[in-house]
Amino acid sequence: MSKLLQVQNLSIEYASPRGVVKAVDNVSFSIGKGEIFGLAGESGCGKSTTAFGICRLLRPPARLAGGSVVLDGIELTELPDEQFDKLRWSKMSIVLQSAMNNLNPVLKIRSQLMDAIVAHEPDAGKEAAKRAEQLMRLVDLPADRLDSYPHELSGGMRQRVVIAMAMAMKPSLVIMDEPTTALDVVVQNGIIRKILELQEQFGFSILFITHDLPLMLEMCDRIGIMYAGRLVEIASRQEMKSGPRHPYTQGLLHSFPPLYGPKRRLEGIPGHPPDLIRPPGGCRFHPRCARAMTQCSSREPAVLADERGQVACHLYNEEGLSVEQASAARE
Ligand code: SF4
Ligand code: MG
Repeated sequence: MSKLLQVQNLSIEYASPRGVVKAVDNVSFSIGKGEIFGLAGESGCGKSTTAFGICRLLRPPARLAGGSVVLDGIELTELPDEQFDKLRWSKMSIVLQSAMNNLNPVLKIRSQLMDAIVAHEPDAGKEAAKRAEQLMRLVDLPADRLDSYPHELSGGMRQRVVIAMAMAMKPSLVIMDEPTTALDVVVQNGIIRKILELQEQFGFSILFITHDLPLMLEMCDRIGIMYAGRLVEIASRQEMKSGPRHPYTQGLLHSFPPLYGPKRRLEGIPGHPPDLIRPPGGCRFHPRCARAMTQCSSREPAVLADERGQVACHLYNEEGLSVEQASAARE
């Protein structure tokens, strides 16, 4: 699969009264064309900050501290604002958790959709009005809703409008940060189905962010797990279901009810994520990890990349085997 987005060593920090918070620390991953890539982890792990860094929505005091973001061959971090604005919506669009953050409360839906089109195609004219109606149909909303203000629509309808807007310029990447979290389950299911249908139809890639791991296992091709600002594992959906390698990923999966098969007792991960101003040395997960070894508190695990994905944990050596398997194989 050819790569659409490549994130290399992305680091984002912000100053706080107590010191510098390293919210995202050396995060690297890529997304293929037409791929749905998920980022998961407990709240505060840096997944939304990563997304905001990619689409340049970081607001002070948050700042890009290093790294590179390449979309379709274009380095985004160095692009002048004016050129980046052209790219936003046309190559990459964003759907945030609350539709109210995406929509202007004092403008009717029609003008918001038309504005999005005309901003990139100043000559669209009458065509833009027609396109706005098509976009509404695309997300199963009646065209007469174009004359509504955002507050006159339900939460689910508003989120559909935002998705329609994100589709307006046929982008190659859509970033979705908890797009259905604020909605009730039935509405949520309808919207997820719609997103998958549109993805199938247009073939764009998705960076999908949620804390809802079961949902992610249903819809994403590959999943990255973040812990305390770092990416600790990347694996395909199948690998995630059949047995992720990182102890944190294993703990995270055990804190949700299983999607299939017999019910089991839910086990949360003991303790809580660390303070990112003074994170623990070595592996940041070591104070909570049941499998921690001596080296875990002093040495940061290297990222092992192999055909199963990538994992940053001392349990795995270069061949991607667990220490036990590796020593058994050597004997
Ligand atoms: Fe646990 Fe050590 Fe692996 Fe960290 S590196 S997840 S502490 S075993
Ligand atoms: Mg978030």
